[in-house]
Amino acid sequence: MSIDFKTLFLLTLDVEAMLGVLLLFSWMQNTAVRAVAWWGCAYLLRSLSIGLYGMYGALPDLITITVADVILFGSYAVTWTGARIFDGRGPRPGSLITGAAVWLLACQFAEFAQAAAIRASLSAAIIAAFMWLTAYEFWRSRAERLLSRWPAIFILFANGAMFLLRSPPIARLAWPVDEHVFSSAWLTVISSESLLATISTAFILLAMAKERAELRHKTAATKDPLTGLANRRSFFQEASRLMQTSDRPVALLMVDLDHFKSINDQFGHAAGDEILRIFAKTASANLRPSDLVGRLGGEEFAVLLPAASQEGAWFVAERLRSAFATAAGTVNGLSIEATASVGISILDPGQDMSALVDRADQALYRAKASGRNRVAGPQPQFSPAA
Ligand code: GH3
Ligand code: MG
Ligand code: MG
Repeated sequence: MSIDFKTLFLLTLDVEAMLGVLLLFSWMQNTAVRAVAWWGCAYLLRSLSIGLYGMYGALPDLITITVADVILFGSYAVTWTGARIFDGRGPRPGSLITGAAVWLLACQFAEFAQAAAIRASLSAAIIAAFMWLTAYEFWRSRAERLLSRWPAIFILFANGAMFLLRSPPIARLAWPVDEHVFSSAWLTVISSESLLATISTAFILLAMAKERAELRHKTAATKDPLTGLANRRSFFQEASRLMQTSDRPVALLMVDLDHFKSINDQFGHAAGDEILRIFAKTASANLRPSDLVGRLGGEEFAVLLPAASQEGAWFVAERLRSAFATAAGTVNGLSIEATASVGISILDPGQDMSALVDRADQALYRAKASGRNRVAGPQPQFSPAA
């Protein structure tokens, strides 16, 4: 059976373009994973650039070839920086600058590839090293989660080797520039590279889906879905741990929203939910990263300050109470008066968690009994704001 290499070539280009669309689509499903979009763009750029070579590479049109080079090498820079971002390390300026520098360097070499064989090989080697060291490292760490180690490494190296063979400078060494495009050997190499890239990307997508599912599972077990705060169980788990490990007094603030039932009755459950989210946001904005906040259930929240003085705990509680009263003022255009009562208790570290909770509950009860929208707890007392 004879293979029509031209058809195969166009087919692999389509596969790469489809891969790009697939990656962009999967990014739209989960916009948090931004690098997937970069990756999708890189694939689209890749198929575009290889297509440019295919269509115009045979013509001695340096400008077109340079445009294709720029797109091709640019897409690798995009892949690499995208991988870095997705890897959770963030878009470090270093990675962006290095990506851009490698891209420019590669373009320089690609431009002169026809003139100097040495530069051509160097250019391909730079790009190959760049791919192996960065994007593939990212790919391998994920592919290994699904494949065993050796198949993952085999695909990785085969992919890299094919890439090296089909890179334009190397191709130009093997075939004069006017003839290398559409020569059957070159097309075989480029098709294999595309096929391997497709397989490896499929593995990445599968591994990412697995990671996402695991993360969702873990989040569902520890987070309150409405507010994103820790749920009751995870709050008390972490609070007990802090209570055992802290070497300074620990403060617990128990918070209960005032007349929440009538807010629900008057403005509807959705407005009530929005108020709960506003409380969560206010708490997060007014606490330190080391403080712990959770939704215990309904309209009841708790805050643990791991190293607190009495004055400090009162200060935080008052600030939280007044910030919430201000923040809850307008919800969906409705003017809603929502306030919170706070009970404070403070204990030395190493003591029993339930004692801390009981005292905070009693203080909260006192705050409610003495008129709501106020803080109660051990001295010093603040004169409560009305
Ligand atoms: P108090 O000032 O004494 O705390 O009065 P209250 O009305 O806030 O007290 P209560 O505990 O009786 O009412 C709590 C209400 O919170 C009852 C319930 O309808 C509402 N609630 C509980 N969970 C949710 C929720 O997830 N969303 C909304 N919108 N309301 C909730
Ligand atoms: Mg309540
Ligand atoms: Mg209440």
